[in-house]
Amino acid sequence: MQALKLSHVSKTYSNGVKALDDVTIEIQPGMFGLLGPNGAGKSTLMRTIATLQEPDSGELFLGDINILEDKMALRKVLGYLPQDFGVYPKLSAEKLLHYFAQLKGIQSKQERQKIVDFALEVTNLYEVKNKSVAGYSGGMKQRFGIAQLLLNDPHLIIVDEPTAGLDPAERHRFLNVLRDIGTDHIVILSTHIVDDVKELCTDMAVLNGGKLLNHNKPIEAINELKGKIWNKIIDKEELEAHTTKFDVINRKYNQDHSLNIKVYSDTRPDESFENIEPDLSDVYFVSLKQNENEMSNA
Ligand code: ADP
Repeated sequence: MQALKLSHVSKTYSNGVKALDDVTIEIQPGMFGLLGPNGAGKSTLMRTIATLQEPDSGELFLGDINILEDKMALRKVLGYLPQDFGVYPKLSAEKLLHYFAQLKGIQSKQERQKIVDFALEVTNLYEVKNKSVAGYSGGMKQRFGIAQLLLNDPHLIIVDEPTAGLDPAERHRFLNVLRDIGTDHIVILSTHIVDDVKELCTDMAVLNGGKLLNHNKPIEAINELKGKIWNKIIDKEELEAHTTKFDVINRKYNQDHSLNIKVYSDTRPDESFENIEPDLSDVYFVSLKQNENEMSNA
């Protein structure tokens, strides 16, 4: 199976924002999570891979396909679900999928019915296939977006912030659909929600300020932090002193208005700290913290 390889991909917008800063990464088949805060450059990267915009420099390959030189070849094997995909006509999901399948050149009605049924089933929309897509909920529309991109059996699937704005039940259903698509393909899930990656992805990277920070398997990234995450309960007046002295990666208010802080440190910062088990959100916040420290030392 083919890997997606990006080498030294950079992009600066005309307003001077460096959205991608020398991104180099190899992504293998499976579910890949691209995690980063708003403005990190995720959409820019997704759109660049999807041939919707060009980088200033760098190379992108999917197997043998040189993505920048042979956009059509990439588009044939790509399924892209953008953040926002506009308005749908008042047609039922089934009719609309038949229409899209026809546009994709599937002439035989029998063949079309087979693939449309498959797409409706995988995305859990079979029961509501006769309802108008225009009247679907946000989560159903997102699942319909997946149904639509499954019609041409893509090798590379890109979903850009698909769970933003979904309620917890819809989010769960959507993630289950992604899981069911399986791992024969490369699925890239861009998100700012750590739990999306935790629940699904076998590989991940953190993007911040256009820079790729931590490319690792979630479980290994968590293991690397064992013994390095420290917890302490403080009064909120003590916060500033602690953020100056330690690498505070997270803070949470308790009901009594005290604060739980998490500190990243190779050794116990002092006696008042207790060691705790790391999780994936620690991986994310440590990556961002290290990046912040590097930037301020640069
Ligand atoms: P993300 O998807 O992680 O939120 P984006 O790729 O959308 O990040 O944006 C990265 C940075 O580039 C942000 O600072 C954003 O404001 C800027 N940006 C995105 N698109 C454009 C554009 N067309 N023109 C100028 N700046 C842009």
